[in-house]
Amino acid sequence: MERVGILGVPFSALTEHEVMLHCVACIESQTPHMVITAGPEFVMRLQSDPRLRSVLTAADLITPDGIGIVIASRWYGQPIAERVTGVSLTERLLAYAHDQNLRVYFLGATEEALQKAMHVLRGRYQGLNITGKNGYFTSDQVDEVLADIMQVRPHILFVGLGQPRQEEFIATYKDRLGVPLAIGIGGVIDVLGG
Ligand code: UDP
Repeated sequence: MERVGILGVPFSALTEHEVMLHCVACIESQTPHMVITAGPEFVMRLQSDPRLRSVLTAADLITPDGIGIVIASRWYGQPIAERVTGVSLTERLLAYAHDQNLRVYFLGATEEALQKAMHVLRGRYQGLNITGKNGYFTSDQVDEVLADIMQVRPHILFVGLGQPRQEEFIATYKDRLGVPLAIGIGGVIDVLGG
């Protein structure tokens, strides 16, 4: 797959449609994969936080979340066609999950925001198989969170704990969880709830 390196971040040069096809292949593979949507803040954070490098190597796909990355790719002479944002990818994946009757799990946001988002989505996608847990848990409660996810056995795990914590969470636990597609989505749960 073609990648464009911007300050150490190997972005995929795929269109949103191609990213979706890749995500579908991940789900069908039934083995753990991680997708990161990364904007300029993520690129900048990487410069000062080398711990994030291991997160990068654990990712199967890093999408350019923001026009800033697309513009930078032109400076580097390897233009990326379009941005692929967390919001839009989440929307597409939810529509796909609804269509294919897949299980989705939202981990993140406050309990109120999470319930609101799930309510909105259940209205929009009748019969959508969605569950979740809020993102305010301590390190002592991680095992409980993992057990809940494993019991649900989602096909897609959306993690909205903020960057880079959500990516660290996925990189650390993806193999144990065995979820075919885990994706960090930042504040998207808040956005979906309106
Ligand atoms: N969040 C969480 N647990 C925490 C801290 C934050 O679930 O301990 C959630 C927060 O409620 C929000 C999201 O993480 O829904 C972070 O959103 P933000 O837009 O700040 O993240 P970014 O998109 O910048 O990574």
